[in-house]
Amino acid sequence: MAAAYDPNNIFGKILRGEIPAHKIYEDDVALAFMDIMPRTEGHTLVIPKEGARTLVDVSPATLAELIKRVQHVAKGLQAAFQCDGLTLHQFNESAGGQVIYHLHFHLLPRWDGVSLRP
Ligand code: ADP
Repeated sequence: MAAAYDPNNIFGKILRGEIPAHKIYEDDVALAFMDIMPRTEGHTLVIPKEGARTLVDVSPATLAELIKRVQHVAKGLQAAFQCDGLTLHQFNESAGGQVIYHLHFHLLPRWDGVSLRP
């Protein structure tokens, strides 16, 4: 069984304004901000305001709205960074590569012939 959502995580603290973030989009459903250790120029994280641990836990209604914000932010990144493409990453639980237990989507602007930083 999946663990419960713990609001004492870094993204929960960002949502509550307890630690700073470079925000690029915010509304009643979602927040988007720059990743602190970017794997590409423009590496952005999109998170729901709902306290959800993983893709499995989030409510379907929030997820439906959240993915619209992911697309909106993707369009903004494409326009701002003039990238050739975008990569979307999303990790669930430690076995799936998740480190911070508040649901998030990574949006990574990509350029032809340029690899992700490790
Ligand atoms: P992974 O580290 O394997 O990508 P996650 O999907 O849980 O695992 O991603 C967490 C992301 O959060 C990392 O890309 C990390 O650089 C980023 N991060 C950690 N702390 C902050 C912070 N204070 N502000 C912005 N991004 C952060």
